[in-house]
Amino acid sequence: MWIIVHTCVGLAIAAIVDRPFWQVALLVIASHVVLDLVPHWDYTVSAHALRWGWLDCFGSLAVLLAVLAAGYPWSVVLMGPISAAPDVDVLFFLLGDGRGRTWFPSHWDAFPHGRCGRTPGIVLQAAVVAASLGVVAAAGP
Ligand SMILES: [Zn+2]
Repeated sequence: MWIIVHTCVGLAIAAIVDRPFWQVALLVIASHVVLDLVPHWDYTVSAHALRWGWLDCFGSLAVLLAVLAAGYPWSVVLMGPISAAPDVDVLFFLLGDGRGRTWFPSHWDAFPHGRCGRTPGIVLQAAVVAASLGVVAAAGP
């Protein structure tokens, strides 16, 4: 899924799971694998992959800054980037010479990566983002 989806789900998990930092970190990284199984539209194989990528990165950064400004603790805020961090693998693929998608299991070719069309894929990911931000807001800082 998109970086912003992983970021928001990571924030939501951290907002409601009261466990040591390292355990929450493992949980949000595991959520990355689960989310990559869900059918979604993957802009990395679209004609404007870099444009979508920048939008995704800036959107994610905006969410993190908003959550930080709202007074959430660093232990919550950091789970956003930790949850999305495996997608650095995909970033290298996009910016590089076709290498990448090699170190995180849900990016391997053999992994049953969820795929669907653009419109339902975007709607689904927007719904996950909205639900996650709802959980973050309900949990409060
Ligand atoms: Zn991923």
